[in-house]
Amino acid sequence: MTKTFFKSSIFALLIIVATIVACLTSCMGMTDISESGDNEAENRLEVHFIDVGQADAALVICDGDTMLIDGGNSDDSRLIYTYLKKNNVTNLDYIIATHAHEDHVGGLSGALDFARAEVALCPVTQYESRAFSNFVKALKQQGLEITIPKAGDSFSLGSARVNVLACNAADDPNNSSIVLKLIYGDTSFLFAADAEYECETAMLDAGYDLSSTVLKVGHHGSYTSTSYRFLKDIDPQYAVISCGKNNDYGYPHDEIVSRLENADVTYYRTDLLGDIICTSDGKSVSFNVNKADEKADADNETSREMILNTGSKRYHEIGCESIPEIRENNKQSYFGTTVEIESLGYYPCGSCH
Ligand SMILES: [Zn+2]
Ligand SMILES: [Zn+2]
Repeated sequence: MTKTFFKSSIFALLIIVATIVACLTSCMGMTDISESGDNEAENRLEVHFIDVGQADAALVICDGDTMLIDGGNSDDSRLIYTYLKKNNVTNLDYIIATHAHEDHVGGLSGALDFARAEVALCPVTQYESRAFSNFVKALKQQGLEITIPKAGDSFSLGSARVNVLACNAADDPNNSSIVLKLIYGDTSFLFAADAEYECETAMLDAGYDLSSTVLKVGHHGSYTSTSYRFLKDIDPQYAVISCGKNNDYGYPHDEIVSRLENADVTYYRTDLLGDIICTSDGKSVSFNVNKADEKADADNETSREMILNTGSKRYHEIGCESIPEIRENNKQSYFGTTVEIESLGYYPCGSCH
């Protein structure tokens, strides 16, 4: 890893900010569970929301310290391995399985094949699944065991502070999620994992300061999460939804998309943009979705109702003159974009396209 030296004035400022944050968190009764980390000087924060399809994975790099929050499905192990390699992340200060579901824990063994981890957090130490036992096995190979954090715990990552807002708020896996709020200077990120209404209510009732610049939307944009009161309390400027293209669950649900829009939140979706990289200089955040621009252009086309002829494999815009000629049992309506429907083997109709 390269070391760069920054101006002493910025360093002094960071110390002051870190002290204030430390004071504030201790005032709130947060318990410090930091390991004594090696602080590399790289004065900024990067949060990579990695496109792992219908799953979750976020890599956080702060002043050279690193944290991986979830690793996608088991099938994403190779992708996560390659992602860490590409970013030269050979050491993970924290590896976090927010909860035991495969779409979060599955690819973490791939991460551990490449990087050494220092601390592993998860709400449970046992769960009946191959994905989970592979994670535990990979940790064991590094001599690591799972630590179960508590809501109210807090640790540092570089000059950022990470507060545990929830862990095992309820028994079901989604509501057992570890929910984290990372504070870096004036900017903050809330990683809601798959927390649903019950867990959100527990966080609200605990009276934590939930306000955040960026919200990683809970449970892939499902209507069972991001309740109105929770969103209002966080009051984010930006949101990121991690979900798969044309996923079986219909994520993100329309209710959540309109709830974000009504709250004037600018949101980004991994299913449309691929990897989403957010950087913070401690004052404001910026999103880099350039790499995915081509993908986005193709998707810029808005989703809409179309009519399919399942016999001829043609798709038609509503109102196309050929629609009345389609045999009734070959006629099917479809909601989406041309890119999506073409990926399913359909061709445009000659008269409306
Ligand atoms: Zn999930
Ligand atoms: Zn889940």
